[in-house]
Amino acid sequence: MQLLPGRLAAQDEDRAGCEVQLKQIHEAIQAYRKENKELPDRLSALLGKYLGDPDKLVCPLARRSGLRQENDPRTSYFYEFGTRLLHPNFPGKTVRDWKERQMGKAGSDVPVVRCQHGERDGEGVWLNLSFGGEVYESGLFWEAEERIADFLGAEDLYAGNLFAHEAQVVRVIRISPRPEGLDARLIDLSSFFNAALGEKWDGDDGNDLKRLRGDDVKGRTGIDFDLRGVVQLANADLKFKFATSVEIPVGVACTKLHFLQGCGYEAKQGEVVGKYTIRIRGHEPGKQEIRYGEHVLNWWHNPGAELAGNEAIMAWEGTNEARNGKPLRLYMTTWQNPHEGAEVQGILFESNVGSAMPFLLGITAEP
Ligand SMILES: [Zn+2]
Repeated sequence: MQLLPGRLAAQDEDRAGCEVQLKQIHEAIQAYRKENKELPDRLSALLGKYLGDPDKLVCPLARRSGLRQENDPRTSYFYEFGTRLLHPNFPGKTVRDWKERQMGKAGSDVPVVRCQHGERDGEGVWLNLSFGGEVYESGLFWEAEERIADFLGAEDLYAGNLFAHEAQVVRVIRISPRPEGLDARLIDLSSFFNAALGEKWDGDDGNDLKRLRGDDVKGRTGIDFDLRGVVQLANADLKFKFATSVEIPVGVACTKLHFLQGCGYEAKQGEVVGKYTIRIRGHEPGKQEIRYGEHVLNWWHNPGAELAGNEAIMAWEGTNEARNGKPLRLYMTTWQNPHEGAEVQGILFESNVGSAMPFLLGITAEP
């Protein structure tokens, strides 16, 4: 995407102002810590005593666009050390617990505040205020920057790995173990499953995927998947039950990724219900959207509803007790790696938290 020169200039002009503010926020956070012996819960807690001017919490660029944080409307900045719960897979762990563990690995380069400071060549430009007080630029994934990637794999910083021991306790209860010796190209989603296939996982008794068989999926798609559970993300109604995104470590070189997925509830034709951001070693991240009516439809299939276009195929049709013989459907979408054979390091799976609820059953990489 080509940016208008005027827009680029404004972004660069505001950058110096943004950097100055980030450094002032750093000082305010240090003063807060000194007095309260802990970090603030949110940036607006700094206002008044630690940061006099409320404008300092709004990037000059955001002052024009009006962008503010939904959970802290007095600031445009993303605060990375909040105390909300991380994910049901890590009971009792907060985002801050995770960030503190990241600091154990990556030290004071871990950002404490981030600004989505415009974009360049269609990619977001992020200004990061590190825990150590330095401002540095990165893309969406600061973990991929040289300063980190030189000595750590980004996957070392995933919550699933940092809390691996704790996560296992939850996993053993419900999800059957991954078959031994299974090909690494069948991506291991064990840490992210939040229901087993035979469990009811969306309301009614008997509303499960007990009858989903890998052979049936392979018959329609030609692809093997590791099918043991469901990764459900939140929609607007289930925001407090499920995470809105998960970061899945991959670490496999491939030409294609096949996603076996579905969707609860409905959305408008063509509406984006979720997306995958695919981190590729040495390249800009790839993207795969999940559009309602093109990649997925309500898994409780409505008679006559069919996918438009050719970006996905119906990968399984079956039923369950709750449906009482009426059909359930799942779909497969294939993403082509533009950097053929380059390693996919990880995948961020995100819901756009609208009316529909995207869910994922499996990901398989093709060499
Ligand atoms: Zn900014």
